[in-house]
Amino acid sequence: MFNLQRPGMGHEEVIRDILYRMRLGPRRVRIEAATPHMLDAGRAYAVAGAGERLGDALPREFAAGGLASDDVKYQYEDRLLSKSCRARRHYDALMESAPNRRCPYCGTGTVYTLDHYLPKSVFPTVSVCPDNLVPSCRDCNSEKGEYRPTGASTAILHPYFDDVDDLPWLSARISRGTPPVVIYRVRGDVLNELRLRAEAHLHVLDLVNRYSWLAAQAIADDTARLAAMLQEQGVDAVRAHLREQAEVRGGSRLNSWARMLYQALAVDDWFCENYLADVDALM
Ligand SMILES: [Zn+2]
Repeated sequence: MFNLQRPGMGHEEVIRDILYRMRLGPRRVRIEAATPHMLDAGRAYAVAGAGERLGDALPREFAAGGLASDDVKYQYEDRLLSKSCRARRHYDALMESAPNRRCPYCGTGTVYTLDHYLPKSVFPTVSVCPDNLVPSCRDCNSEKGEYRPTGASTAILHPYFDDVDDLPWLSARISRGTPPVVIYRVRGDVLNELRLRAEAHLHVLDLVNRYSWLAAQAIADDTARLAAMLQEQGVDAVRAHLREQAEVRGGSRLNSWARMLYQALAVDDWFCENYLADVDALM
């Protein structure tokens, strides 16, 4: 997970653009009537997000407003997503807010859609609220599905509100085997609610498995080269190379799966000395 700046456009501006040149009729009347409720819900969302309480029992107005379920779908799919609607510019701006289109939830996938952090089926009044629309990769969006936190500690990390970029919370360890398996979890020294929320993040988005599979592929790709390095230059060179890879492939992010992988490999005596020494026999 990495932090993104909160969206620059306002909720009111998005709704105004959704209504711009929308044909007159009962649907428009309902959306106009629901607008004050949507704006109230958006304000309550911002307060709850800033206080890290989005997972708590949410204000009643989140589900009020008189919108029919097909109004919610219409606002989002037929207006915000439509290239012929003025509101589309907000969709595009939100999609582009993730640097290099990296998914902020997992830090590794490519942004494919906007994810409703709180599902629109349960919280229709924030279905077009920019704070609730997070650029996301296909996997994170699909794994999360209609997930709704049942309390503050079960809310996954929110890229706009939870800035934990400078706090090391992810860890990896190597489980012996052929091939080795990398186990990702939340660091033991992360305390209290952040610990529970980071665990929810890893499990709800299935990052425990997705990171482990990425790590398995990275090990498979590097094993022959590392084994040759061990033979030719010795174990200290292997460890130094792995530490360097943690910096290079981990990039600037403290909690990236790659940084954790290479750090864990560099300090793992079994991997550096035994596993790599036996690679010729295994291959
Ligand atoms: Zn993702």
